[in-house]
Amino acid sequence: MTFKSTGIAFILSLCIICLLSVLAGISMLWILAIAFVFSLVLAYGSATIQSGFYIKAYCNSDTNEKLIALTFDDGPHPEFTSKILAVLKQHQAKATFFVIGKHIHQNESIIKQIDSEGHTIGNHTFSHSFFIDFESTKGFKKELNDTADLVKSITGKQMKLFRPPYGVTTPNLAKASRALNYDVIGWNIRSMDTTGDNKEVILNRVKQQLKPGAIVLFHDTSEKTVEVLEQTLLFAKQNGFKIVSLQSLLNINSYH
Ligand SMILES: [Zn+2]
Repeated sequence: MTFKSTGIAFILSLCIICLLSVLAGISMLWILAIAFVFSLVLAYGSATIQSGFYIKAYCNSDTNEKLIALTFDDGPHPEFTSKILAVLKQHQAKATFFVIGKHIHQNESIIKQIDSEGHTIGNHTFSHSFFIDFESTKGFKKELNDTADLVKSITGKQMKLFRPPYGVTTPNLAKASRALNYDVIGWNIRSMDTTGDNKEVILNRVKQQLKPGAIVLFHDTSEKTVEVLEQTLLFAKQNGFKIVSLQSLLNINSYH
């Protein structure tokens, strides 16, 4: 089910209702019912990145091998990104950091460190605004380009991976991503590490869902995540899981 196929189904349904209304005298109120269902489907498609409704998003790999990839959103953070990097280094694990452009100012050295330690940097827009889903295609392009330019000025690399803020996708976001040739990255394990849940609850949530090909969503914005990461890495090792980069899990390029 995609935006296009749903749109075609909606228009066909409207035509059939109009026809039946003329030929068989059914109530035109059916149009309202169909419009209601259509809006529910659109809302579901926007809110669920795994649905691939507006644009295909990589949310996991189909592999049977015990490989998983770790991702960290919303940094760089002056304190916690460095702590996350230290834990990853200790366990020789590589991850992807989806950074917010406006957080890069005064944290350029962290961006440099993420890159030089062999991790990947992806785009998480410049503002990560709560109202970003109302942006035009042009607005989304600016959000992506402003962050990409900043990262390029520090690492010399042109980003290719994009994680939509809040995992919400829209037609304009899809158009901007396609025009700028980004690969959209989702997840299939959401740690919920930005909620009020304590670290045991978060850790258990990740442990219970760990499976071959998984992409785990964390945020490098709290002490809690640093501790959960350490335990996740130990658990993964004990259970034969190997941490790999997103590009290796999905067989894609992380930069242009
Ligand atoms: Zn985010």
